[in-house]
This record gives sequence, structure tokens and C-alpha cells, in this order.
Amino acid sequence: MEKKQMLYEGKAKKIFKTEDEDKYIAEFKDDLTAFNNAKKGSEEGKGALNCQITTELFKMLEQKGIKTHYVDTIDSNNLLVKKVEIIPIEVIVRNVATGSLTRRLGIEDGKVLPFSLVEFCYKDDDLDDPIINDEHAILLDCVDNEGELEELRRLGREINTILKPYFLDKGLRLIDFKLEFGKDVDGNIILADEITPDSCRFWDAKSNEKMDKDRFRQGLGSVKVAYEEVLKRLRG
Ligand code: 5GP
Repeated sequence: MEKKQMLYEGKAKKIFKTEDEDKYIAEFKDDLTAFNNAKKGSEEGKGALNCQITTELFKMLEQKGIKTHYVDTIDSNNLLVKKVEIIPIEVIVRNVATGSLTRRLGIEDGKVLPFSLVEFCYKDDDLDDPIINDEHAILLDCVDNEGELEELRRLGREINTILKPYFLDKGLRLIDFKLEFGKDVDGNIILADEITPDSCRFWDAKSNEKMDKDRFRQGLGSVKVAYEEVLKRLRG
């Protein structure tokens, strides 16, 4: 399948049309950004690692009954995906307090939460992806009705219920992660975008070493070494 017109270029991916009007190609880039583009970098091979990690995870989730946009892995950096209209909400699921949750609410960093917390953020770089409630989401026309918000929450929790033990089995604590969903050509809500160490936080289960993009955000050294280790464990 060949790339046609580029539809969108984001911080970590480019999306292209293909000859099939219901399929897109997602190309994973080596670029790294943090703090809404205030910090920029790049590591050769990062995009390929994320493409392979997303492949492993989306295939596994499909086997567990989660509908995703994944169709096929074309090569090291490119996925064939279903055409979707992205819902402009980041669904954040948290098992352990860190990052913006500790900054916003003063909860102790590393505190295990008594339940999985689901938050919605409005996908808008100019506004720094602000946290929103259900009424904001309706007001902003992110979804058609409250039932769709319930569906996003339910899917976020269900995916967490699958991923948390899956990663723990591989020696990784799933601290938190961000999901994006889209509507396919039939209007069904399906998982889109990616699941990678750019969009999740993983801590090594023994040492609590950070194995995700916090290494770049916090200047803790190469991300590639950690992402390679994540992929190795997923495949192991
Ligand atoms: P926080 O709100 O603590 O910054 O992030 C919570 C989780 O969502 C982290 O796993 C983080 O990587 C992910 N996340 C939040 N916003 C974004 C974003 O704009 N892009 C990506 N790739 N991940 C995000």
C-alpha cells in the first residue's frame, strides 16, 4: 500500500491517505517533544521501536476483544490503519500518582491510587491539552452525547484491566497512560493512535527505574535503550 497525500503531521507521527479510501498509513517519527513542544529532541530508531511496540500491543488487545484501528505493519516505521475521525479527547488512565496529577492536586508522587482514575483532556496544543469534565466535552462538541463519554471511560478502564497484569508479567508497572479513540466509517468508537513509552509511564517492577518518555522529559538519559528493553520484554 502506497502513501498518498499527507493529512496530518503531529509531534510523533505523520498520517497519510492511501489508494484505499478507508485506510490510512501512520508513520512513526524519531522526534521527541515534551512540555507541549517546549523541549525538543530526536533519537534515531525511536520511531521504529514505537511502531513495533504499538504493533505488539494492538494485536494483543484485538485478541482480547478490543476494537482498534490497527490493520497491518507495513515496515519498521509504518502501520496500515483504519480511517477514523479522531475524538478530540485524551483519555488518561492512572494507577499511580505522578506527573500532572501530583502537580495539580498535591498527591504524593508514587502513591498507589485506591482505584484506576480516568481523566479527560481536550486535545488542543494551543490550550496545552487542558483537563475537562463531561459538560465541557459536550459544550466543545467533542462527542455527540453523554453515552459516548461513558463508552470512553468504560474502554479506558477495560484496556487498563488488560494492560496492567500484562505488563506486570513482563516486569513493568503500568503507572499511567493516554489513549485516543476515533469513530470508524460506520460510526463505531475504536482505539486509535498508539500505545508506546511516549504515551505511557512504565516503571521497572524491581527497581522503579523509569522506562518511558519521562527519561527525556527529566533528562535521565537515552530513551532508546529503555524502549528497546520494553520491546524485548513484550516479545519475551
Ligand atoms: P500527565 O498528565 O501526568 O502529564 O500524563 C499522564 C499520562 O498521559 C502519561 O503517561 C503521559 O505520557 C500521557 N500523556 C499525557 N498527555 C500526552 C500527550 O499529549 N502525548 C502523549 N504521547 N502522551 C501524553
